[in-house]
Amino acid sequence: MSKLSLHIGSEVSLKDFSFSQLIVAVKNLFDTEGIPGLVKVLVTLIEQMLIRSGVECPYCKTNELHRHSEGHRRVKTSIGEVRLTLSRLVCMKCKKTFVPFNRLFDIDPYSRKSREFEKLSLETITNQSFRRSARNLNDTMGFSTSHTTLHRWFNRTDSVNMNVNKKVDFLIADGTGFKRAKRDKFDSNKGSIKVLIGYNKNGDVIPFGAWTRASWKDIGRYVKKENHPSDKIKFKPIAGTLITDGEEEMVRQLKKLAMSHQRCLFHMTHELTPLLRYKDIVGKDEALKISEELNELLYLDLPETDADPLKSLEDKLKIEIKLKAMKEAIDAFIKELHALGYAKAKTFVENAKAQLFTYIDNWIKTGISNPKVTSLVERMMREIKRRIKRMGYRWSENGAEKMTRLILLQLSSTKHFWETQWQEKMGINANIKLTFLGITVDQV
Ligand SMILES: [Zn+2]
Repeated sequence: MSKLSLHIGSEVSLKDFSFSQLIVAVKNLFDTEGIPGLVKVLVTLIEQMLIRSGVECPYCKTNELHRHSEGHRRVKTSIGEVRLTLSRLVCMKCKKTFVPFNRLFDIDPYSRKSREFEKLSLETITNQSFRRSARNLNDTMGFSTSHTTLHRWFNRTDSVNMNVNKKVDFLIADGTGFKRAKRDKFDSNKGSIKVLIGYNKNGDVIPFGAWTRASWKDIGRYVKKENHPSDKIKFKPIAGTLITDGEEEMVRQLKKLAMSHQRCLFHMTHELTPLLRYKDIVGKDEALKISEELNELLYLDLPETDADPLKSLEDKLKIEIKLKAMKEAIDAFIKELHALGYAKAKTFVENAKAQLFTYIDNWIKTGISNPKVTSLVERMMREIKRRIKRMGYRWSENGAEKMTRLILLQLSSTKHFWETQWQEKMGINANIKLTFLGITVDQV
């Protein structure tokens, strides 16, 4: 480990020294040069160390080198715009020139941004439009990055890859629409995004992916293939429960991935209202009342599994009785819809009936409950819709897919995957620790 020391040009007169003046001087230094100024000095120091440690020509591997010139580069970073002065050396043998510091960059030598600023930019654009992100970054950073630049970085980034080879307690599938920039051969600008998210009972959210061009069939096949190393071995489902809004094609293509299937309860009540209103032509108040009625029939608070086996058995019996009552209540509700002549609504609830209480069945069998899943799906899809749908922005299929993936990766509990990916990119293992060691005073 080498140490380097830093010199600050200072003019101190001990006769009229004042502590306050020192503070003001330090403040002035940082006001004018700022932290980027410090980084610039550090880079120069590191460059000197590098050259002193013996650099060889990257082309002919000899080490007879001379200083050729100095070049300047501006790099956008999250602490400001850093202006670097870098030496260019010339090889005495092959006459080629090169910049030794370039090989220390964790980005390509011509990039105008640091990796960590790229990360910050990508985090910013998942929250707001490109234009607003540009404005936001300009306000907080004090240097400008245009929205077209942000857009270009977004288009080029590869940090949205997700590994689908994993097992989860719950697998949630959902879709949403977006406006496409280009119309398809049917002259439609409606695009759709399909999202697959895993959730574990410990609260971990694990994104599987977002797709705009693949069908549910493609997605189901792909996830299965990635989790099925050999045809000689029987495929084991990767999830305990699949949770969907009940879309037939989605269920058909994905159910092989999970042991059981649960209808998303949130979707149930939210889809019933419009169905009643526009298919069964029911007034607004009545439709809301009926949906609320259904809502009250769907949820059951499941107790934590008790350590005491007797207590646990008692809980189980209680829940079994409640489940029976809930199933009866749903049957009565279906009859009521039938009696009222709401045929579409009746069929809708009837078709969903068998998958409404999978979560209770699972609890009885395994003691695992999924109370948070419904609200989680709701929150994630809302975030995605907010960014993709309501912006009035027209997306390319690739863009919408990428943006959805960025959002998935950044939703709080998945942040972990995002951070690790970037740590690798930024080479966080590189051991740089900075401390103030003290000062040597040169005798003049
Ligand atoms: Zn050379």
